[in-house]
Amino acid sequence: MASAALPVEKAPLERYVAPEKPSLVGLTRAQLGALLGAIGVPEGQRKMRVQQLWHWIYFRGVTAFDAMTSVSKELRAELGDRFTLDRPEVVVEQVSVDGTRKWLLRLPGETQGERPHEVECVYIPDTDRGTLCVSSQVGCTLTCSFCHTGTQRFVRNLTADEIVGQVMVARDRLGDWPGATRPTDGVIPAGERCVTNIVMMGMGEPLYNLDAVRDALLVVADGDGIAISKRRITLSTSGVVPMIERAGAEIGCMLAVSLHAVRDDLRNELVPLNRKYPIAQLLDACRNYPGASNAKRITFEYVMLKGVNDSIDDAKALVRLLKGIPAKINLIPFNPWPGSKYECSDWEQIERFSQVVFDAGYASPVRTPRGRDILAACGQLKSASEKLSARERMALRAMAMTE
Ligand code: SAH
Ligand code: SF4
Repeated sequence: MASAALPVEKAPLERYVAPEKPSLVGLTRAQLGALLGAIGVPEGQRKMRVQQLWHWIYFRGVTAFDAMTSVSKELRAELGDRFTLDRPEVVVEQVSVDGTRKWLLRLPGETQGERPHEVECVYIPDTDRGTLCVSSQVGCTLTCSFCHTGTQRFVRNLTADEIVGQVMVARDRLGDWPGATRPTDGVIPAGERCVTNIVMMGMGEPLYNLDAVRDALLVVADGDGIAISKRRITLSTSGVVPMIERAGAEIGCMLAVSLHAVRDDLRNELVPLNRKYPIAQLLDACRNYPGASNAKRITFEYVMLKGVNDSIDDAKALVRLLKGIPAKINLIPFNPWPGSKYECSDWEQIERFSQVVFDAGYASPVRTPRGRDILAACGQLKSASEKLSARERMALRAMAMTE
């Protein structure tokens, strides 16, 4: 495989300009308190008011201030004049034959004449769980050579409320609020909740947007609202070594590391950030990840690329490398995209590789490709939509609305 010198990072193109009438959806308790203070709610009442809003927004999922019956009429009217309860807008919704759902979401805010900012969010239902794959940036500054998002320009970081907004949209569309109606056109897990797990594995590098990702995940984990436990939230990083400890200390969620290669020369090519933070440094940061233990293992993701990183020697080197780290290994079949220069390893080779990992004492689940019919690999829907004409985009939107 040719190793053209990929740049490690791309520069951001646009800044975020907040919408004039902001939404309260996705805000932290502190932000809600500050907004209430700004509209004259006396300090002594603020904590109680924040608690009320929190319940209506994150536990009940209401979309209108009038539904907040425990809040006084005057305050509801005041809030309605100044704020909204809007979520990111669903531009396209696709449902795969296997029940995977993918949403292309348009973010509010001024784009300075550029096309609207859009991100993807994917829901993967299983019998006992439903996992939501959430984006942290519009595009990505990094340039991993096998990743479709890596080929797209980097636009901007998402704000915390836009990250929470993705979870809110998913719960809206899945009827995942108390008393709401569930859709009948797809697989929904058994049990009370549709969205039981969150993975920060959509577009972007979450550790390059750590403050917003932290605020958002703490909102999502808050037991009085969405209440998804930190053990069911996984943050995936390509290896931003200096931020790993902070992620553990400030968020305390599960960590996944996109390793993909066992030698620096190959990892430099697949994950160019490796030139800044090579494998040895990355694994040291993993050894020191706050809270890592056998009960709370770090997941190492390894994308299976035919003839590139999938030999039996690679598998043996992988288990040697991870010795002493409380680890899980996740083998991911490469999800090809138009123009990608890699192929997915043959199934027999994935099985042989997985056997070596298993024999070394690791459960080595191979992540089954999901939603292939709807281009569910990271970055693909957004890119497909960008190539469409205005008329085709309208048709897709209309389809999305009637689904
Ligand atoms: N930026 C973070 C999180 C988003 S990518 C990271 O890199 O970890 C989420 C996962 O999808 C990563 O493990 C990434 O390496 C993997 N991935 C990206 N493109 C892929 C593709 N085409 N096929 C299979 N896995 C892919
Ligand atoms: Fe960015 Fe992750 Fe894709 Fe690399 S794999 S380009 S870090 S989204």
